[in-house]
Amino acid sequence: MPKANDQQRALIVGAGIAGLATAWWLERAGWDVLIVERAPSFRAGGYMIDFFGPGHEVARRMGLLPALERRRAPISSVTSVDERGRRRGEISTEAYEAVADGVISLLRGDLADVIRADVRTSVRYGLSVCSIDDGRVTFSDGSAAVFDLVVGADGVHSTVRELVFGPSAEFVRYLGHHTAAFSFRDPELSARIGYRYQMLTAPHRMIGCYAVRDGSMAALMLYRSSSQAVPADPVAALRDRFGDLGWVASELLSVVPQDVYYDEVSQVDMPSWHRGKVVLVGDACGAVSLFAGHGASLALTGAHVLVEELTADPDGAFERYQARMKPAVEHTQEFGRRFIGWMAPGSRWRISVRDLALRLSGLPVVRNLIRGSVMPDVDGVLTPATPAGTAA
Ligand SMILES: Cc1cc2nc3c(=O)[nH]c(=O)nc-3n(C[C@H](O)[C@H](O)[C@H](O)COP(=O)(O)OP(=O)(O)OC[C@H]3O[C@@H](n4cnc5c(N)ncnc54)[C@H](O)[C@@H]3O)c2cc1C
Repeated sequence: MPKANDQQRALIVGAGIAGLATAWWLERAGWDVLIVERAPSFRAGGYMIDFFGPGHEVARRMGLLPALERRRAPISSVTSVDERGRRRGEISTEAYEAVADGVISLLRGDLADVIRADVRTSVRYGLSVCSIDDGRVTFSDGSAAVFDLVVGADGVHSTVRELVFGPSAEFVRYLGHHTAAFSFRDPELSARIGYRYQMLTAPHRMIGCYAVRDGSMAALMLYRSSSQAVPADPVAALRDRFGDLGWVASELLSVVPQDVYYDEVSQVDMPSWHRGKVVLVGDACGAVSLFAGHGASLALTGAHVLVEELTADPDGAFERYQARMKPAVEHTQEFGRRFIGWMAPGSRWRISVRDLALRLSGLPVVRNLIRGSVMPDVDGVLTPATPAGTAA
């Protein structure tokens, strides 16, 4: 565990939401930070996320809300359609506003970019770690260095976790689905679909899309798979799974990029998030999955809580960080597992019940039910804001 002295060196592995946010807070706490990222360059775009909950408050403390608001897509509703595009159910405007109160819908790449723009350290792209012996690290380019703190912020398939804590299979809980997401430009389709999330659901299969801005679109595909392993050719697998679905499936399948985001849907559950000088943050230690929809928010929150505890007192900081974050993560994971039945219902009957709930969402009782179903209560994890409301 790091001890306070003049300037300490931190290595952050992974320049995603958690890694960049950890860098942001560590820099302001006086640390000398190195960020390494395996990808060859910054990845823009990606998939759409709904950003809310405690991460929203952390972004406010970081002064990032105005920049995030500028990238917000003005999503106004959620509509379930049939294979001919006819409306089966739509969440009412009142219900959407109640559910989406304070939510910023934006591309994951935009959230990362906004944090990155406010991080002073430049990211070393195309670099990863090969071995970690407490603070002693060797990198993929053959170099080595010693750090006071090593932060594994390298996502659900974390290499740091694998090197320091053990094989992924011990910690990863597969949720029985694969997902793919991508963004693309198509002004005609974008105008036709509009700023509302439209989805077509067949038993164990869901395809959805919405306009993002300036003629761009974001698409999401989700299906049940008994095999956890990602197929060798994800684009071919998507064509195979969704080719017969109708609605805009063939249009979406015709523009799936070769480097589409494609992954198994999993959660990460570990008894301990730290060992020696190494600590994990974000999806690496507590992925909640897209079913829970709060991963980015929790990643940002975890970064803030970790540095807050390190700054308060390095002794026991990792333990206090985990004690504050883990209940919120577990609560959200549990919620995510329950939400599978809403997002990827397994039968036509369940799809009908879900669509009926959307149609009745104008009724206060149903609206409250939906709000309770899509918003896990994890706000208690943050300490009250300082009067200034931001970091030093
Ligand atoms: C389809 C989909 C929809 C989602 N919707 C929502 C939503 O609505 N709301 C929400 O809050 N969350 C949502 N999430 C979850 C959210 O995106 C993640 O929880 C969040 O991105 C986690 O941040 P992270 O920084 O921990 O991991 P990541 O964002 O995955 O970042 C990890 C980074 O580490 C890098 N990396 C990996 N391995 C190495 C290595 N060995 N060396 C160096 N770098 C490495 C990766 O390239 C990446 O840049 C969604 C996720 C998906 C897939």
